[in-house]
Amino acid sequence: MRPRIVLLAATLAPLLPATTPAQQPPSTDTTTARVVVLGTGTPNADPDRWGPAVAVVAGGRAYLVDAGAGVVRRAATAARDHEIAALAPEGLDRVFITHLHSDHTVGLPDLILSPWVLDRPGPLLVFGPPGTAAMAAHIEEAWREDIHMRLFGLEPRDANADAYRAPVTETTGGVVYEDENVRVTAIPVLHGSWPHPLGYRFDGGGRSIVISGDARPSETLVEACDGCDVLVHEVYSAEAFQRRPPEWQAYHAGSHTSTVELAELAGRARPGLLVLYHQLYWGATDEDLLREIREAGYGGRVVSAVDLGVY
Ligand SMILES: [Zn+2]
Ligand SMILES: [Zn+2]
Repeated sequence: MRPRIVLLAATLAPLLPATTPAQQPPSTDTTTARVVVLGTGTPNADPDRWGPAVAVVAGGRAYLVDAGAGVVRRAATAARDHEIAALAPEGLDRVFITHLHSDHTVGLPDLILSPWVLDRPGPLLVFGPPGTAAMAAHIEEAWREDIHMRLFGLEPRDANADAYRAPVTETTGGVVYEDENVRVTAIPVLHGSWPHPLGYRFDGGGRSIVISGDARPSETLVEACDGCDVLVHEVYSAEAFQRRPPEWQAYHAGSHTSTVELAELAGRARPGLLVLYHQLYWGATDEDLLREIREAGYGGRVVSAVDLGVY
C-alpha cells in the first residue's frame, strides 16, 4: 500500500495550496513541537470530523487537549499515518481538558481505560477546570465492574495494575504543568455560562502554541498568544450565522467566535500561523471560512484544520 499512497500524494501535490508544505514540520523531525489535530469536530456528528482533540507532540511525548469522541483511535491513526510513536495508545498519559461540555469529554473514559488495557505503564494525568475531578471519579465508578474484571480476572495486569487511575489537577488559570519538554499554562476564556472554561498555551520544542478551546472572543487569548507560533482557534461562519434561528444566534454569539471576530482577534494576537478548528459551518465550506476571515481584514497565514492534520 505504501508506494501507492506516496504516488497519490505526489499526484495531488500540485492541487494543494502553496503554503501547505511549510505548515507541516516533517514527521521525522522529533525535536520541533508539532500540533496534530486529532479531531476538529463539534457536537454535529460529521463523519469526517471526529470529536475535538488536539495533540501537542514534543520531546517524544503527546500532550492532549480535550478528549472528544474517538480520541484513542484517532491518535492511533495519527501514530500510524504520520509515524509519530508518541501517539500510540499506550503512550497517551497526559490530557488537558478545556471545559466539561460532552463533545470535549465523551472520549475521556476511552482515554482513561483503553490505553490501560493496552499496557500503558502509568496512570493518565488529567488537568482541567473545577468539576474535572468529579467527572473522573464518576467514570471510575461507572466502569467499576470492568476494572474489577481486568484486575482480578485472567488478564495479566501486574505490571500496570494502577494505570486505570486518572489523578486530576484542577485549575482556573496559570502554569498548571511543566516537565523537560513543555510548560503548560491554563488560560481563562469566555464560553457561554461556564464558570471556568480554559484555553492552553504550550511552550516547548522550540515553539509557542495556544489552543483556544471553546471560546467567544477572549482578550486573554490575545494576551496569551502575543506573537505565538501557532494559534489554534475555534470559529463559526459569520455568513451562515445569519441563517440560524434567533435563539440559537444568541447562544452561538455568547459561546463561540465568528470569522469576523476571529480576524480582528488574530490581527492583534499576531500568530505565525492561525489554525481554525471546531469549525461550525452550517452549510459553509472551509474556503468560505478562509474567505470570510480574509475579507474581514486578516492578512496573516491561516489554514482551516482537517482531522489528522499536522501543523
Ligand atoms: Zn465544543
Ligand atoms: Zn463548549
